[in-house]
Amino acid sequence: MRQNSQHVSGSVNWDHFDELGKKGLMMYDQMTPAAPIYIISQAIVQETYEIYATIAAQYFKNTLKGTLNVTAGLGDMGGAQPLSITMNEGVALIAEVEEELINKRVSSRYLDLKITDIDKAIDQALEAKAADKAISIGVLCNAVHLLEHMVARNVVPDTLTDQTSAHDPLIGYWPHEMSYEFAKKLRVENPKQYTLCADNSIYRHVELMLELQRKGSITFDYGNNIRARAKERGLKNAFDGFVPDYTHTLFGQDKGPFRWLALSGNPNDIAATDELIINMFPENKSMLRWMKMAKEKITFHGLPSRICWLGQGEREEAGLAFNELVRTGKVKAPIVIGRDYLNSGSAAGSSSHGSDWPILNALVNIACGASWVSLHYHGTVNADNSTLAGMVIVADGTNDAALRLSRILRNDPYTGVMRPVDSGNKIPQRAARENNLELNFIFNRLASTVEP
Ligand code: NAD
Repeated sequence: MRQNSQHVSGSVNWDHFDELGKKGLMMYDQMTPAAPIYIISQAIVQETYEIYATIAAQYFKNTLKGTLNVTAGLGDMGGAQPLSITMNEGVALIAEVEEELINKRVSSRYLDLKITDIDKAIDQALEAKAADKAISIGVLCNAVHLLEHMVARNVVPDTLTDQTSAHDPLIGYWPHEMSYEFAKKLRVENPKQYTLCADNSIYRHVELMLELQRKGSITFDYGNNIRARAKERGLKNAFDGFVPDYTHTLFGQDKGPFRWLALSGNPNDIAATDELIINMFPENKSMLRWMKMAKEKITFHGLPSRICWLGQGEREEAGLAFNELVRTGKVKAPIVIGRDYLNSGSAAGSSSHGSDWPILNALVNIACGASWVSLHYHGTVNADNSTLAGMVIVADGTNDAALRLSRILRNDPYTGVMRPVDSGNKIPQRAARENNLELNFIFNRLASTVEP
């Protein structure tokens, strides 16, 4: 049983938070697992895939073929990077200090190769890039060392990011000026000294990323707070040149996450839904590439499930079509539909200051008849960092479900369009106009679909 409570803003420090946790009143739930239907690593592979697909569309003719994509960290979330890059047909070169994590990703087939020599790894990546071959290489080294070699050799990656856990230097970041074994000891024996060394490495790491960015790498942030940490350490220009994120480009095009799972537990039910989605939206090319690869490469954990990103209108159509599959007995049991926190109408972080949108999103989903609405905090950086709203709706084949699916799968994504338009964001404004999603129009549609 998850206990995922709210706390009053500003009232919680870590000691108080831990105390509440021990009493079973509060828990640290992180963003992705907090989603009411958690589908383990498939969600992060899909999210990372979409981010690279957006970069491919924006800079490289819709594919990463013939590009070198450099990053670091093969941990719980970062482990999704190699597969997401090769699914977009690019070359991935990824630094990771912990050998067993590289081995784990090779054995799960998320990563193609482990190489222990930095220059050999760079050479092999460049050969694959020249041959347009999609391959992922895990290099057993510190990210700082990999980037130093690249700068020294003037090898400029096409894209550059980082998924070490730099948000928590003591637990999540390995300093580069000592051996792995020494660092493990220092972390326990002198945490203060360790943190100082990690912060120095983070400073150097961001400095190198900025250097490669100036030479032409598309350099972007992956939500690990590395730039803020480097800035705190004294790197004044830590925020220069980085693209803050690509998910909002997708939100601006009114695309967003759509996930579902088969309550029957039967993988054939997901196969039936996969086929339906592929046939329904033949023009959504990046989704089709994802669906084809996901069928081959994603292993189910727990109940069989799937995620893909669909546009405004497509989610409603898909939900109604799933309801028909249940009604006509083409699948063995109801299908549960949700998304994760990743809908711009349902998440507010500390940079937004206000948390009106997730609360509005939750209220809209309650009014529209969702099966489950959750409202919770999330804190990568501290316990008081953001508010998120989750939503789940069950397609059980009934007429009532059809009505509710239609309302929810139209109005939940609408809040993700309204929000950036409302804040004056130019890209969503244009996308909203192109899709006839004027703000007044959305509010009117919203009002007309919710029962008084
Ligand atoms: P994790 O702690 O499981 O893994 C981090 C990995 O980085 C570890 O395997 C570690 O060995 C490696 N590492 C640390 N320092 C290194 C260094 N200097 N060189 C090379 N490797 C190094 O973390 P995770 O769950 O994979 O997440 C990574 C980060 O990305 C976190 O900060 C997380 O919050 C962030 N993240 C953000 C989003 C988002 O904003 N949407 C999504 C996913 C992850």
